[in-house]
Amino acid sequence: MRKPLIAGNWKMNSPDESSKVLLVNVLVHAQLLEKRILEEKDASDIDIAIFPPSVYLKEAQEILTGSKIHWGTQNVSAYDEGPYTGEISASMIRGFGCDYVLIGHSERRCLYETLELDQYVLDQIVAKKYAKAINQGLTPIICIGETAEDYAAGKTEEIIARLLDVLIEHQGPQALAQTVLAYEPVWAIGTGQSATPEWAQKVHSFMRERVAKHDAATAESLRIIYGGSVKPENAREIFAQPDVDGGLIGGASLEVEEFSEICFSAAVSTH
Ligand code: PEP
Repeated sequence: MRKPLIAGNWKMNSPDESSKVLLVNVLVHAQLLEKRILEEKDASDIDIAIFPPSVYLKEAQEILTGSKIHWGTQNVSAYDEGPYTGEISASMIRGFGCDYVLIGHSERRCLYETLELDQYVLDQIVAKKYAKAINQGLTPIICIGETAEDYAAGKTEEIIARLLDVLIEHQGPQALAQTVLAYEPVWAIGTGQSATPEWAQKVHSFMRERVAKHDAATAESLRIIYGGSVKPENAREIFAQPDVDGGLIGGASLEVEEFSEICFSAAVSTH
């Protein structure tokens, strides 16, 4: 059985309360959640990771060290060091006690990294970042999903297959065993319009089968999480799907009670 993962992407939000207060709040709620999970006979253990803006990593490290919550960054450089203004390397990230890193989030792909590059070239950049992350012992959460236009054109599987093939070509299928994939339809991110549980299941199952063609054992253990307008109201149904192993949560991760409720939904979604 795969252990569910709930990842909270704070994006570039500086919460109303200070980041310190929010981090402490996350910690307190995680402790309450742990107790709740232990008391619920059908609940299983889960992994939780949060992704604050990088300027709050030191605070995250100070507050969360020794707790069950992991933390990570929203991006990583494709290079080790040098003249890459504004970038942060995988070893620097590791130095802040991070275990995870988000790679290829659509907000980076669409807003900053396109520079007229085509999607295949972007996939190659994602693969380079992926290599840097795993070489530093970080767990990459690699995001992929189609735009509304591509969804309407029926290109979802093509887009996902292209990235998976690039990742496998660069690092081999076994490297995926220390990786998390996040299916994030771009049309569902921050829109309030989540994918249906059935659609998420269809795409996740396609992803697992694609990896299984190369390595069945890796495919079986690979965690594939869903992201795109997950809220406490729809989390249970989405996480109950057999190939959905948790979620990548944007907006709701800043509302600590909502986030905690979503985590609990993952804990009771045994499949
Ligand atoms: C995200 O940022 O990855 C995300 C899924 O955002 P939201 O939950 O707000 O749709």
